[in-house]
Amino acid sequence: MIDVWEHKEDCTGCTACQQACAHGAITMQRDAEGFLYPVTDADACTNCGLCEHVCPMLRADERPADESAPKVFALRHKDDAVLGESASGGAFTAIAEYVIKQGGVVVGCRHDKDMNVEHAFADTVEALRFMRGSKYVQSSLGDCFHTVRKQLQAGRLVLFTGTPCQVAGLNAFLHRPYPTLLTCDILCHGVASPALFSSFIRYAERVTHRQVADYRVRDKSLGWGHTLPRMDFQDGSHIKGGVAWLWAKAYGSTLAHRPVCYHCRFTSFRRPADLSIGDFWGIEKHHPHFIHPKGVSLVLVNSAKGQALLEAIRGAVLVQESTMEACVQQCLQQPVPRPVQRDKFWHDVQTLSFHRLCVSYFEWGFWNRFRKKLKSIVKRI
Ligand SMILES: Cc1cc2nc3c(=O)[nH]c(=O)nc-3n(C[C@H](O)[C@H](O)[C@H](O)COP(=O)(O)OP(=O)(O)OC[C@H]3O[C@@H](n4cnc5c(N)ncnc54)[C@H](O)[C@@H]3O)c2cc1C
Repeated sequence: MIDVWEHKEDCTGCTACQQACAHGAITMQRDAEGFLYPVTDADACTNCGLCEHVCPMLRADERPADESAPKVFALRHKDDAVLGESASGGAFTAIAEYVIKQGGVVVGCRHDKDMNVEHAFADTVEALRFMRGSKYVQSSLGDCFHTVRKQLQAGRLVLFTGTPCQVAGLNAFLHRPYPTLLTCDILCHGVASPALFSSFIRYAERVTHRQVADYRVRDKSLGWGHTLPRMDFQDGSHIKGGVAWLWAKAYGSTLAHRPVCYHCRFTSFRRPADLSIGDFWGIEKHHPHFIHPKGVSLVLVNSAKGQALLEAIRGAVLVQESTMEACVQQCLQQPVPRPVQRDKFWHDVQTLSFHRLCVSYFEWGFWNRFRKKLKSIVKRI
């Protein structure tokens, strides 16, 4: 039986245990920070042990050591419009479009109509639009592992994309390799609390008197290196910056990350997916001819399936082979450290209004702006 309190610090919320439980004894419940954890109903549990068996964090690390040296590529989509909507160089869209054109289905992360972040299925190229862009929040997986398995059993091509811990959860849940399964993990330095993100959206709606329709932390209209947060509203208007900065600051503070992210086991070149995608930071130093103002993806090829997939999408993308040394960044080396203020922050979340919280922790509000301005004037003098 999974004991949530015993394993809380290690639980990624991947839902493998809950989705594997044949007796419906496990439900995913939110804790005070708004993260989902499995909770077992002792009366319904038969102690079969399946939940512990499929938990990727309780299993020994099964990734073979010799795969620690993936092939490394810089890549970007040939379509400028796709590049503009993607967080990096559009690697996700290139891979997903290929899968859909083969009659397959893509599983990825999007906002629902209430701006909750969830994993969903797409089998048209148009539906991929909602999956583009990084949502800096932990997504809810629902029962999508079940649906993935059903599609695989029917022989359908399936591309699952998500954080490495979600891919590890799917692999553990499926328990055996499926020839028509393709997986792609994103480079990740932590996922933030969905409850705090909801508070941010509701706060933004209150101060703008408009209903939020979409939110992007990294709008690239000024370029990949100068991204601005952008919020779109139901009435067709949008803002860049302003209150939209708040979530960028909240995420950047790392105070709202899931506890397991501070000792994430996936911050290395040993990845659970066929391909890993991220930003190719430092491209200007190593491959200056390949830089593009709208972004360049980093692609790690971790398996033979991943290599075949990269070959299959070559028509839609430009590719430059690179090295591990050229692309290394923090999230491939070590997890983000746990901020010393984290416990105090979560105590304050329970007691302060969202506005006060942002004033105290994210330099929000009139006096913070005033102090900043004053400092810059003094500096100039
Ligand atoms: C929380 C988070 C942290 C990240 N940290 C880094 C980092 O430190 N360094 C780095 O190089 N790259 C990081 N990335 C990855 C990067 O921002 C891009 O997501 C990635 O390069 C893919 O970009 P793209 O242009 O190929 O496609 P896009 O279309 O922008 O990417 C969409 C893909 O991201 C997935 N996705 C988006 N949000 C989530 C989410 N919340 N949970 C699971 N999957 C999600 C979608 O399912 C889809 O596969 C991070 C992404 C996220 C979501």
